[in-house]
Amino acid sequence: SHLLERIQQLDSQFNSFITVTGEQAIQQAAAADARLAQGNAPALCGVPIAHKDIFCTNGVRTSCASKMLDNFVPPYDATVVDNFLQAGAVSLGKTNMDEFAMGSSNESSYYGAVKNPWDVERIPGGSSGGSAAAVAAQLVPATTASDTGGSIRQPAAMTGTTGLKPTYGRVSRWGMIAFASSLDQGGPIARTAEDAALMLSVMAGPDTKDSTCLDRPTQDYTANLNESISGLKIGVPSEYFGEGLDSEVGARVQEALKEYEKLGAELVEISLPHSKLAVPAYYVIAPAEASANLSRFDGVRYGYRCENPADLRDLYMRSRGEGFGEEVKRRILVGSYALSAGYYDAYYNKAQQVRRLIKQDFVDAFQKVDVIMGPTAPNPAFKLGEKNADPVAMYLEDIYTIATNLAGLPGMSIPCGFAHGLPVGLQLIGNYLDEARMLNIAHQFQ
Ligand code: GLN
Repeated sequence: SHLLERIQQLDSQFNSFITVTGEQAIQQAAAADARLAQGNAPALCGVPIAHKDIFCTNGVRTSCASKMLDNFVPPYDATVVDNFLQAGAVSLGKTNMDEFAMGSSNESSYYGAVKNPWDVERIPGGSSGGSAAAVAAQLVPATTASDTGGSIRQPAAMTGTTGLKPTYGRVSRWGMIAFASSLDQGGPIARTAEDAALMLSVMAGPDTKDSTCLDRPTQDYTANLNESISGLKIGVPSEYFGEGLDSEVGARVQEALKEYEKLGAELVEISLPHSKLAVPAYYVIAPAEASANLSRFDGVRYGYRCENPADLRDLYMRSRGEGFGEEVKRRILVGSYALSAGYYDAYYNKAQQVRRLIKQDFVDAFQKVDVIMGPTAPNPAFKLGEKNADPVAMYLEDIYTIATNLAGLPGMSIPCGFAHGLPVGLQLIGNYLDEARMLNIAHQFQ
C-alpha cells in the first residue's frame, strides 16, 4: 500500500499507469501474507509488479493503449499473468504503452504520452515506456513488457533500467495481444539483472496454449549470476558503431567494454554484414503481420463500435477509422499493401529472404564469440514531440535492436552511465536460449 500511495502521488507526473488496481492488489497482498505465514511461499510471494497493458487480465481492462480496446475487459488471464499469480506476486495495475505496441516513444497511447522520470520533457522510449518509467520512478520494483523490435530494450536504455527480451518462444504469448506474431516476445523490465532473472524465472516456460512456445523446461535464472566471466569472448560488431550513433553514447559503450576487459573478457571485432537491412525488412514483416492480426478488431465481436452504423460496411469502416490511431492505421495500410497480390513477391518474400541472411550473420558470429555487445539505442531520450512528424526518424530508434527479433535471439539492455545527463543502455545479444549466461554477464557488470 506504500507503493499504491506513491503511484497516486507521483504518477500524474509520468503517466506510466493506465489502470491502477488498488483493491485487487490489497486482496492479493493479503493472500500472499497468508501463504508466507504458512511457510512454503513461492519465489515472488508478496512482491509488487505491474503488467504492460498488452497482457490480458481477468476482470481488469486491457486496452493495449487503444481507443479500440478502451472498453475491453478480458474474461481470462494471459499465461504470463497467471504465472505471476501462481508465484504470489501482487499486481498493482496495467502500464501505459504505445498503441498496440507500435512506437519508440510512448507518444501514440490513447491515454497520453508517458514522461521520462529523469526529465519529464523527454520520452521514456517505447513501446513499453510505462513499464520502464514505473520502474525508473520506483513506483514498482519490476514490470512485464513486450518486445517486437526493441520495445523492452530501448525504453530500458532511455530510463536507466534493465530490460530483457528472451529467445523467441521462451515466454508464452498466450493472452498477450498480438502485434507481429513471429517477432513478439514478452520479458521483464527491472532495476538489476538479478531482479530480471527472478522475473524471467517466473515468466518463462512451456505452454500448450501457445504452439510457438518452446517445449523446454524452465530454469532458475538466478543460479549462475555469480559465475566468473574470465575468458569470455565478447563480439563487438563494427556496424553498431557507425553513422547515426551519438558520440557520447558510443563513448559510454566503449568504456563499458573496457570494464568487461578488466573482468577478464576478451573483445573480438566482428561483422554483422546485413545489419543495415534489418529496419527495412522489419517494416515490411511487422506491418504485414499486424495487418492480419488487427483485422479481428471489426467493431462486431468486441472493442469499440461506432455510433448508429448505416450498414455493415459503415460499421467496419467507422469503427476501425475512429478506434485506431494514426500510426496503427499507417501500419495496417503498409502491411495490407505488402501482402497484396502482385506485391507479395516484391516486398514480403524479399523481406523474408533478408531475414534469413540476418539470422545467418548471427549464426556465423556465435561460432567465434559467446555474446555480442553494442549500444541499445543510437541516442539518449529525446524531447517529447521531437520525432512525431517523421516516422522514419522514429523507426531508426531501433537500428540496433530489431535484428535480434528477426533472428529470434535473446537481448538485454543494462545501464552503462550517462550521456548529456541522460541514461545510456549497453546492449547484450545472446545465443539461442542463452538467457542464463547473458544474465550472468550482465550481473558481473552491475
Ligand atoms: N519501435 C518498433 C515499432 O514501432 C518496435 C516496437 C516493439 O518492439 N513493440 O514497431
